[in-house]
Amino acid sequence: MTTSQDIHLDSNVPGNPAYHFTILPPGSPAKAGWTKRPPLVPGARPGTQCVHAGVQPDPAYGAVMPPIYQTSTFAFRDVCTNAGYDYTRSGNPTRAALEEAIALLEGGEGATCTSTGMSAILVALNLLPHGSHLLCTVDCYGGTFRTLEHAKATYGLEVTYLDLADLDAVQAAFQDNTRMVWIETPSNPLLRLTDIQAVAQLAKAKGALTVVDNTFLSPLLQKPLALGADLVVHSTTKYLNGHSDVVGGAVVAAKGQVALTQRIQSMNNLLGTSQGPHDCFLVLRGLKTLQVRMRAHEAGAQQVAEFLATHPAVGIVHFPGLPSHPQHALAKAQQSGFGAMLSFELKEGNQANVDHLLTTLRWFTLAESLGGVESLVAHPASMTHASMTPEARKRAGITDSLIRLSIGIEEAEDLLADLAQALDSLP
Ligand SMILES: *Cc1c(COP(=O)(O)O)cnc(C)c1O
Repeated sequence: MTTSQDIHLDSNVPGNPAYHFTILPPGSPAKAGWTKRPPLVPGARPGTQCVHAGVQPDPAYGAVMPPIYQTSTFAFRDVCTNAGYDYTRSGNPTRAALEEAIALLEGGEGATCTSTGMSAILVALNLLPHGSHLLCTVDCYGGTFRTLEHAKATYGLEVTYLDLADLDAVQAAFQDNTRMVWIETPSNPLLRLTDIQAVAQLAKAKGALTVVDNTFLSPLLQKPLALGADLVVHSTTKYLNGHSDVVGGAVVAAKGQVALTQRIQSMNNLLGTSQGPHDCFLVLRGLKTLQVRMRAHEAGAQQVAEFLATHPAVGIVHFPGLPSHPQHALAKAQQSGFGAMLSFELKEGNQANVDHLLTTLRWFTLAESLGGVESLVAHPASMTHASMTPEARKRAGITDSLIRLSIGIEEAEDLLADLAQALDSLP
């Protein structure tokens, strides 16, 4: 029989027979090396990497999640000695954990984390010397287009927008001063693909850097660095964080590119675009579930695309996972999944019908952005791509009746029912 004397409310106190801990006095740092685990074995599978990458028990108290080092500056022990950090714009342990994680997931040498996806793009573009020429996907992200147009007008950057699927056109577009090729694949919002390996080869032969905006697929579904790209940029606002509660970005340099890694890291410091510790913590937390979220996103998107493709009110559906997609074979070869972004046109794509659809959906919030757990619907011509001139939109093939969906992780049956009620009640 157990008596009250036998019950120890706290096993971690002297007197309890189970007690076997050495308790360091409060404030003592954990012994150096005490909490370190061996580095991730290279063979760790992607879902395991998502959970563990960049994360070590904290050396101070053994905290399992990296603490949010919410500080602008770090004390020096003496004029020559600090603990590896001096000022948070230049470096912060919480950001370092996230950078290590993203670099590992992309298979890169190193990464730098920025305040937004746009500032990640700025870091990469600022590597270009004066007088450079850049080749860019014609239907790139609207903010990328706006930044490139600004750099054209203000800094004299030369830019050629073209369909990077046309390799002959790419080859012909190189100039003596072409220093960078900017790839977004799949592109936004038309889900056109670029053969990263083929374009990176052409760029390498011309001495130009290949940059891939990998926001749409995440490193789990596409590994541009393994295909020959020099840099990957991300809006971590999207899938990497995944919960629509933070904005952030990252730039990752390819394995072995030590100098390039240092350049992106010092450029982030120079521009003052580095990400704050609390936001880094949130992205690191989001990363842990990246694999399970991506699986749910993808499964839902495939079902939605197949449903739309057979609905009588729907015209063309742009989704790389449909066999009717002109680059379905490339998507299968280059990606390890089709992602969860798709766009489509209504057969009767007049303003009234488009408005009806955008405002009648229940589970799809009418909003910009993508990659969060909740499904979103957007009208690229008036929202995400409004910064493009009508001519530029036309050149890119973005019509006024194009509708873009970001499929969340809701149950597909609910999403299909919602789309059906909105499409079946078109005026
Ligand atoms: C959202 C997005 C960006 C910009 O990222 P922000 O975090 O909004 O600054 C860049 N590229 C792509 C493909 C995006 O979807």
